[in-house]
Amino acid sequence: MGRYTGPSCRLCRREGIKLMLKGARCETAKCPMERQWRNSPPGQHSWRRGRGSEYRLRLREKQKVKRYYGVFETQFRRYFAEAERVRGNTGAELLRLLERRLDNVVYKLGLAPSRAAARQTIVHGHIYVNGRRVTTPSRSVGTGDKVSIKDSDRSRQLIRTRLEELGEPHLQNWLKIDMTKLEAEVTAMPSRDDVMIPVEEQLIVEVCSQ
Ligand code: SF4
Repeated sequence: MGRYTGPSCRLCRREGIKLMLKGARCETAKCPMERQWRNSPPGQHSWRRGRGSEYRLRLREKQKVKRYYGVFETQFRRYFAEAERVRGNTGAELLRLLERRLDNVVYKLGLAPSRAAARQTIVHGHIYVNGRRVTTPSRSVGTGDKVSIKDSDRSRQLIRTRLEELGEPHLQNWLKIDMTKLEAEVTAMPSRDDVMIPVEEQLIVEVCSQ
């Protein structure tokens, strides 16, 4: 499983939007996107670059979504091919598929402060789906799936601490969590409106269809 190991804030600066890749830090004044002298695109003379081509506009939209969900090109293409096979709006389906990733669900349940932390939590075996340990962050969840924590003091303590630190989870109405039992359920499929970053999915479809 490949993962990006470079500077996260650089990605936000490139896309010109807060991708919330660093958990609690993203909510503080330390976030470079909150500072006027730091929120420009990375690289020397970046301010000199113009608006760019139509292709660049579409490419940036795709890169933004990839970086937000933490997927690389090959995997993203696989999601796109799957979305194309489904009848209806390909762009919306693509976003729905990405929303259903287990690492995204763990993040939205508040069991991890960021998607990267959620991935690590899953890989380290703290997360169970329908009573079975899952160590694949890209595992797709569906309606009725139950997400729980490994029955060990260490795992439960880790998650409880995170939930306390987080305060308010990014919970959406397709997810339900029982805080006392630390058990969650996927009650419905996510909709297009559940995607929390502004994205024009049609532009992604155009660039991926070329
Ligand atoms: Fe860095 Fe988070 Fe701010 Fe993005 S949102 S620039 S990851 S602190």
